[in-house]
Amino acid sequence: MQEDIMRLIELQRLDLEIIKLERAMADIPQSLQKAKKESEIKGERLSKIESQIEEKERQKRLFEEELQEEQKRLKQTQARLTQIRGSREYQVLLREIDEMKRIIKQKEEEILKMMEEIESLQRDKEKILEELSEVRKTLEEETNKFEDFKRTLEKEREGLLARRSNIAGKISQSILKKYQLIVQKKGGIGIAGVDNGICEGCFMAIPPQLYNELQKDNRYHECPHCKRLIYYKKIYHPEEKNHLPEE
Ligand SMILES: [Zn+2]
Repeated sequence: MQEDIMRLIELQRLDLEIIKLERAMADIPQSLQKAKKESEIKGERLSKIESQIEEKERQKRLFEEELQEEQKRLKQTQARLTQIRGSREYQVLLREIDEMKRIIKQKEEEILKMMEEIESLQRDKEKILEELSEVRKTLEEETNKFEDFKRTLEKEREGLLARRSNIAGKISQSILKKYQLIVQKKGGIGIAGVDNGICEGCFMAIPPQLYNELQKDNRYHECPHCKRLIYYKKIYHPEEKNHLPEE
């Protein structure tokens, strides 16, 4: 029994280390999160500008078509002017031509303005593309760094798992099952030492009678509060001191 408890204590230590590694592997670093966020923001800005450019160019094409129509009409009207006899009709056509010229000028100005707007948007786009490529570079570096880090941890984890299964294989099946069940239910801690009458799993006082029993023999018992396996810490103290994780 004492052997089993010693191995369970070691198993518990390994399990906590494994949990710690798994948490570190799932914990995406701030720098990577930041690079991801920035890359998203810049990507959104880029696609917004691209759709603005697209919309402006669509408008510009529409105006250019209207301009061509207007220029065609102007030419036709100017041609008719040479065939006119009556001066009243001539005057009417002249006014129409003036009006067409005014519209053409206005359209040309609007098209010019749009071209300037498109150019300015293109410059913004270039700038964002540059920024985006920087941010993506950082993102790639941060991702690689994190992947390397995770690979290192994974190797460590595999080592711990191998040691774990080696130790677990030497523990009596019934108590091992019990331990594992408690670990699942109790967030990682299945076996706890009792020191000064306090269960170190739930930090509650052990009833005096149980505490007496616990001190008399080196068997494991069950904490009446948290149901974890408990053992008298002083019996296993040297073992514990060498193996307990720092925190
Ligand atoms: Zn307890």
